[in-house]
Amino acid sequence: MSEQVRDAIVIGSGPAGYTAAIYLARAGYQPLVIAGAVTPGGQLVNTTEVENFPGFPQGVMGPDLMDQMREQAEHFGAEVEYDDVTAVDLSGPIKTVTTDGGEHYSARAILVTTGSNYRKLEVPGEREYGGRGVSYCATCDGFFFKDKPIVVVGGGDSAMTDADFLTRYGSSVTIIHRREGFRASKIMVERAKANSKINFILNTVVTQINGGPQGVESIDVKDTITGETRQLDANGVFIAIGHTPETGFLGGALDLDAEGYIVVDGASTRTSLPGVFAAGDAVDKIYRQAISAAGMGCRAALDAQDYLTELDAQA
Ligand SMILES: Cc1cc2nc3c(=O)[nH]c(=O)nc-3n(C[C@H](O)[C@H](O)[C@H](O)COP(=O)(O)OP(=O)(O)OC[C@H]3O[C@@H](n4cnc5c(N)ncnc54)[C@H](O)[C@@H]3O)c2cc1C
Repeated sequence: MSEQVRDAIVIGSGPAGYTAAIYLARAGYQPLVIAGAVTPGGQLVNTTEVENFPGFPQGVMGPDLMDQMREQAEHFGAEVEYDDVTAVDLSGPIKTVTTDGGEHYSARAILVTTGSNYRKLEVPGEREYGGRGVSYCATCDGFFFKDKPIVVVGGGDSAMTDADFLTRYGSSVTIIHRREGFRASKIMVERAKANSKINFILNTVVTQINGGPQGVESIDVKDTITGETRQLDANGVFIAIGHTPETGFLGGALDLDAEGYIVVDGASTRTSLPGVFAAGDAVDKIYRQAISAAGMGCRAALDAQDYLTELDAQA
């Protein structure tokens, strides 16, 4: 049991969390980063080349980028613990978080940057070819599939937007959707249907992703009505079936929207409780990029600094 009351605890160690930690550390607050036990470094540790994070003209490997962010935070005095927060008490002026390892940490300000998870298809080959043809981010990876056959799996707005965007790169783009009707808005479906490079295969599910040393080569699909199976050529498989924000551990302590994303006050990072700030993909369901998460992490640190300065002025 830790008795120390810190100034700030950052929960999460993706681009939002480490950026917040760098700002807080440089401001002299010596934040504790509770980085998560399974994927410290966040979503980018599960990818290979990142080519759209500014400052790296030749691109940078996702895990290397996150190592450098951690080193930068530690260099300025952030402390990093590799554990998961499993419970929180955020109501009073001193907030406490409890970890899976049974530790309790207290602080005057808490920054929640726990990101989100892409929903998975859970089919053979999906994990194996992750980052080698299977992608959950068209903006991030579309570029790698120039003149190659691409499939997009899903029937919501994200799938339509991704398919439209991917026609810039793919030799063909095929939307595979398990039903006849779409969850996507009418205008997005119409736009996709009007795009001659996009094909639709409906009432169909992906059952397996196949490949070789170069990555994905084809997918197996099954018609949900006739039961017929077949194989389709594909080098890029973009899975756009939704995201789940990592906010369950909050146990209802903060206001969330209907999909579980943390609600913040306007353009700020202030949550429904004073002294608790949130940033990155746990808040942002639109942009979901490393640089936008990092930018929001900076804003959360500055909001937290204002809050702590105000508390000190009142003391
Ligand atoms: C395969 C892949 C490739 C991508 N490629 C790119 C790209 O090329 N360019 C780009 O800009 N974006 C890319 N993205 C998107 C980008 O990674 C995310 O937008 C970004 O990482 C979000 O940052 P974040 O800090 O909000 O959260 P995350 O990166 O999701 O980090 C969340 C952190 O919180 C921790 N955590 C979660 N729950 C808890 C808990 N209870 N206790 C403690 N810690 C917890 C996790 O361990 C993790 O460290 C990619 C995403 C994926 C999945």
